[in-house]
Amino acid sequence: MPKPIVAVVGRPNVGKSTLVNRLAERREAIVHESRGVTRDRSYHDTDWNGREFTLVDTGGIESVKSKDAFAPRIREQALAACDEADVIVFVVDGTCGITDEDEEVARVVRKADKPVFLIVNKQDNPDSESDLWPFYSLGVGEPRSISATHGYGTGDLLDDIVAAFPEEHEEEEVEDDGCLSVAIIGRPNVGKSSLTNRLVGKKRSIVSDVAGTTRDAIDTVIEFEGRRIRLVDTAGMRKKNQVHEDVEYYSLVRGLAAIDRADVCVLVVDSTVGVTEQDQKLAATAIDRGCALVLCLNKWDLVDTEQARDRVVASIDRRMAFASWAPYVNASALTGRACAKVMQVACKAAEARAIRMRTSQINAVLDAIRETGHTVVRKNRRLKINYATQTGERPPVITFFCNAPDLVDDNFERFLENRIRAAFDLAGTPIRFKFKRKD
Ligand code: GDP
Ligand code: GDP
Repeated sequence: MPKPIVAVVGRPNVGKSTLVNRLAERREAIVHESRGVTRDRSYHDTDWNGREFTLVDTGGIESVKSKDAFAPRIREQALAACDEADVIVFVVDGTCGITDEDEEVARVVRKADKPVFLIVNKQDNPDSESDLWPFYSLGVGEPRSISATHGYGTGDLLDDIVAAFPEEHEEEEVEDDGCLSVAIIGRPNVGKSSLTNRLVGKKRSIVSDVAGTTRDAIDTVIEFEGRRIRLVDTAGMRKKNQVHEDVEYYSLVRGLAAIDRADVCVLVVDSTVGVTEQDQKLAATAIDRGCALVLCLNKWDLVDTEQARDRVVASIDRRMAFASWAPYVNASALTGRACAKVMQVACKAAEARAIRMRTSQINAVLDAIRETGHTVVRKNRRLKINYATQTGERPPVITFFCNAPDLVDDNFERFLENRIRAAFDLAGTPIRFKFKRKD
């Protein structure tokens, strides 16, 4: 089930970013910067009452200098955001009435035909709210006042946003056909479509519509070495040219939706560029959502000097250190080099993700650690892990029962992870640890 997307739209300075930060409670954002614009859009994963969703902040077009270019830019921005959103939050500034730009955004929002919340912001003092009546004229429903800075009204707003989400189960049946779902993700122009076309090739492929997901998300099911593999959202790649000029934005949002439906993410990286910050964030998102991860270093045909090779490897070491377990394959979608291998490695990563680890084997690792005496000691307290067992899969979760979970720090967790990874075949899958108290 992809996370619902909530787009926060409105003209500059009405308080969109402030509201998003308030609603997302400072969760880390995926900020995407495009050329000529200092701050463009950011994506914040968050949840309310257990329901997870992604907030899209479209704030940040202020840096466009020309006054004339303003309205069309706002329109464009709102269009792109409303297109992908499940729910729209339209923000206006309650301290200064309706402007032409507000009307411009309202036109876009009305056309989108999706649940809309009209937010009259900057109502910091509930006792002296502005008159909400004029805002009805925007034609997007009932205005409600809030204060993004003070938080007043935001809890109710979140309740109502979550209530407006599409039903949660709808799509499970379509998905659950025993196929391995693979999402090919990456920045524009790295070669995702080329790789997909290589994999789909002339072999018979079954294209299936996915109900209830992003409009025009189309998956392609291929037969690969005797197994059925669903390539998630392949249409998004093919159609990209005709959809939006704002390819970067579009592909990022699509990428996020695809990650949600995937078992394995193949992150395609342009070897002539190396791993970028955006790649890093996509990888982090994939891991966060529990996907297995494989790197495809594409356009390897263009990497022809030792120097260029070193540069790519250095960028992996630098930017992918947090996922050093993710295997990478040097490939070329252009020549076909190693494209099948990418898929083989993806299948292996999926197996690792579905691993069932024997309790006795996990505890053998603990025994070995105990023998070395390595543990955490703080203020006369000593961490003792008594027992561990796998408590979840896809991705694997191990729960460690110990005397004092609060003693476990990042260092020790990393140490444990290295030991566990050395003992099991976990290449390509994230693993999660839980620490519970049991003396
Ligand atoms: P954006 O351009 O729509 O993203 O707007 P920002 O979030 O950057 O906010 C624009 C300005 O309005 C900033 O100076 C904020 O501090 C201010 N602002 C935002 N929300 C509120 C609010 O609820 N009350 C008041 N008084 N100011 C606010
Ligand atoms: P996407 O935006 O990620 O789907 O990227 P495309 O598949 O559309 O590829 C972008 C451009 O890179 C196209 O011109 C491709 O021909 C080119 N390209 C893709 N893969 C390779 C490769 O392995 N080597 C070279 N030299 N070019 C490639």
